[in-house]
Amino acid sequence: MTPVDAANQVLGQFWDLCLPVDPIAIAGGLGIKVYYSNDLKELSGFYDDEEKEILIHPNESSQRQRFSIAHELGHCVLGHGTSPRKKHSPAEFKERAANIFAASLLMPAITVRTLVEQRGMMFSELCRTFDVSEQAMAIRLSELGIIWVNPKRLEMHCLLRQTIRRQ
Ligand SMILES: [Zn+2]
Repeated sequence: MTPVDAANQVLGQFWDLCLPVDPIAIAGGLGIKVYYSNDLKELSGFYDDEEKEILIHPNESSQRQRFSIAHELGHCVLGHGTSPRKKHSPAEFKERAANIFAASLLMPAITVRTLVEQRGMMFSELCRTFDVSEQAMAIRLSELGIIWVNPKRLEMHCLLRQTIRRQ
């Protein structure tokens, strides 16, 4: 199963359709406990497959924590087993898959499309509504092929173009 399909399946089972998506509630649905740990050093999160628990760094922003929980849930759902204790390159296959899962879980495609294309929601409001960082939302919008053009927000426009160029 692709990370996108896996995220959609989990949303179908455990999402209450409220925004922002609550990754801790979804973890609960999957039988995974989420704890804060001061022990993670340079890691943002860690998934322990034997204990069925996710450990999260308490000192990062709440948006970062939400993304980390969703990312670690990706490792769980995609059957990656216990996370490695050291930081891996973001280019590594499992890391990419977990990031795609996390973005698909926190920013469900149909919901993002509806809010942008039918309700004309602005970028800053999208970030607030989904409670994600600007970077995460910009990457998601480019993944979904939504080109965000707003002359009043040149900075975001530039960020999006950079994101698109990188892919
Ligand atoms: Zn990871």
